[in-house]
Amino acid sequence: LVRVRFAPSPTGYLHLGNARTALFNYIYARHTGGKLVLRIEDTDRERSKKEYEEMLIDDLKWLGIEWDEGPDVGGEFGPYRQSERTEIYNQYVEKLQQTGHIYRCFCTPEELEAERKKALAEGRPPRYSGKCRNLSEEEINRLLSEGKPFVWRFRVPDGEVIAFRDLIKGEVEINVDEFGDFVIVRSDGSPVYNFVVVVDDALMKITHVIRGEDHLSNTPKQILIYRALGFEEPEFAHLPIILGEDRSKLSKRHGAVSVRAFRDDGYVSEAMFNGLSLLGWHPKGDNEVLSKEEIISEFDIEDVHNAPAVFDRAKLRWLNGVYIREKLDIDDLTKRAVPFFEGFGYKADFEYYKKVLEVIRDSLETLMDIEERAKPFFVDDFHYSEEGKKFLEDETGYRVVQTFYEKIKDLDSITAQEFKKITKELQKELGVKGKNLFMPIRVALTGETSGVDISMLVEVIGVERVKHRIQRALE
Ligand code: GLU
Repeated sequence: LVRVRFAPSPTGYLHLGNARTALFNYIYARHTGGKLVLRIEDTDRERSKKEYEEMLIDDLKWLGIEWDEGPDVGGEFGPYRQSERTEIYNQYVEKLQQTGHIYRCFCTPEELEAERKKALAEGRPPRYSGKCRNLSEEEINRLLSEGKPFVWRFRVPDGEVIAFRDLIKGEVEINVDEFGDFVIVRSDGSPVYNFVVVVDDALMKITHVIRGEDHLSNTPKQILIYRALGFEEPEFAHLPIILGEDRSKLSKRHGAVSVRAFRDDGYVSEAMFNGLSLLGWHPKGDNEVLSKEEIISEFDIEDVHNAPAVFDRAKLRWLNGVYIREKLDIDDLTKRAVPFFEGFGYKADFEYYKKVLEVIRDSLETLMDIEERAKPFFVDDFHYSEEGKKFLEDETGYRVVQTFYEKIKDLDSITAQEFKKITKELQKELGVKGKNLFMPIRVALTGETSGVDISMLVEVIGVERVKHRIQRALE
């Protein structure tokens, strides 16, 4: 049984990179009929915040990612927050002490810094010299009795080459001399990421570690720890890094990068899910618009590309438009749009929002576009654009609007059909057609020379508001 995990640190918003990692783990779990574990890596007490954990969970759920075990849903391998697993880590630190895999290092930060500088100056990779590797029992006791602070370091076997087959990168070989004896427990007694992640992955029976490529250099250290503790090593799959369009690592400089920001900017979750799935993976056919089910059925971890993924913002926007215009059913779309309408100060009931969306959805790429597109359905005291004014100031234009008013002033209601009929009559009676006929009416009703379908606007806002706007234009 496949067991994968997503292990975020709750130190900020869920960004695209981590969201993609979560997504690939989720898709792989569903594809294989396995389980997804959510583990909160909150050992950095200063930077970790409960609010971030809550927002993370909220953003993951919004994306449509579901997990089988986690701090919120429980499971048989909990607790699922690292801050609640201290006892467990201590047990395994003790095990490493007993087996001689770790040793106390009393070197001060100043000494280590001096060592590092010297190595760099001599063109060697900066790594720990191994000075405290073989301290005698007496020496250690003396330093301890003096109250000298110490860390626990892993005794890395000299010159060993760690080789593993990454499911995405292929064969990876790293000589341990590149990093040397690394810290397992800090001087304040807290265990480091590389250690706790191995203990957790092993005890939670994780079979596949799927994570960002930025962790590739940690993997040999983790493999050493697996071996030292006698744990079975999982499979590893390191996802390609995500670049901006300028081919530098995707960051805030490239614009919004948190899932939350896209959500606030009117992206729908299905488009995000689909868009994120394309960061390092591609379906076999040409069609890139795929439902969650289609992605789950087609995806395989070995098909993920090794080359960096480039985040194409314009494409995600386009994809979002496809979901808004073609994929979501109108009630569902309306439900999601309500907070946006309200945010723009457009007050109405659900049915009215729905009617508006039926008219304007074809012109939307994000729900933010509602502000501009839906404006004629809500705002009666709009400004007339400079170009628009010309049509009202024009003699023929004014006469069109005036005659139109004569034809509607006694009506109790008006449909799009009826509106069209009236304009046909106007055309005949006044001998005016095309732009000269439609523009004055459009400007009178919206202030603009382009935009929404006017017959639909008239039907949705109703005859009273139409009369009011026409009167205003004639003033
Ligand atoms: N907490 C780590 C991170 O957010 C997890 C890394 C891993 O998946 O091992 O980068």
